[in-house]
Amino acid sequence: MIDSTLIDRIDALLPQTQCTQCGYEGCRPYAQAIAEGAASIDRCPPGGDEGIAALAALLSVPVLPLDTTRGVHGPLLTAMIDEAHCIGCTLCIQACPVDAIVGANKRMHTVLADLCTGCDLCMPPCPVDCISMVPADRSWTPDDARRSRQRHQARAARLAASNLTLMADAPAADTAPVDASRGAPHDAERKRNAVESALARARARRAGGK
Ligand code: SF4
Ligand code: SF4
Ligand code: SF4
Repeated sequence: MIDSTLIDRIDALLPQTQCTQCGYEGCRPYAQAIAEGAASIDRCPPGGDEGIAALAALLSVPVLPLDTTRGVHGPLLTAMIDEAHCIGCTLCIQACPVDAIVGANKRMHTVLADLCTGCDLCMPPCPVDCISMVPADRSWTPDDARRSRQRHQARAARLAASNLTLMADAPAADTAPVDASRGAPHDAERKRNAVESALARARARRAGGK
């Protein structure tokens, strides 16, 4: 059994961008893997050489070069949404690990630059490629890391609670046959159609703008 205070002390040295570049679902799972001896200390590009040195000192292990197969260390970036092309699909909101994007279904979305960790996890899901990463023109501070950890934890707690609610509300599969006129599959299809038509509009708008 790993001492949870060791996980805490390792986690305290990680940048908390929650970018997953280390190969774990966020900074805390990586901290746990290091504490368990399951991961090396060289997998965090945002932390860079400084972060590796701090981990090496804490754990009394040799300093390693950053494993650049995980990514490279560089200046802080921030996401920017081209609001003229946003179709309001909310996929970026769902991807953001620290709730740094605001917007509503079918409304344009905006990144709260002060909260953005530069993780770029919102970019791949955007169906119209209207998110780009731009220089943040500032450095990532320990206060940013603290706030990002809190926001990530709050988001995880919210998602866990909503999953529990969904499970509690779901009818038991063997006692409640699916009503073909209602329910999740239909909702999913409607959403897919809505995104498809929004995409078609976005493509037409872009083509017209060229
Ligand atoms: S900042 Fe990214 S790479 Fe570093 S520990 Fe956190 S999730 Fe992993
Ligand atoms: S807005 Fe995008 S880049 Fe910024 S924290 Fe959220 S997912 Fe990461
Ligand atoms: S994923 Fe792209 S299109 Fe969808 S809401 Fe976010 S920025 Fe807008």
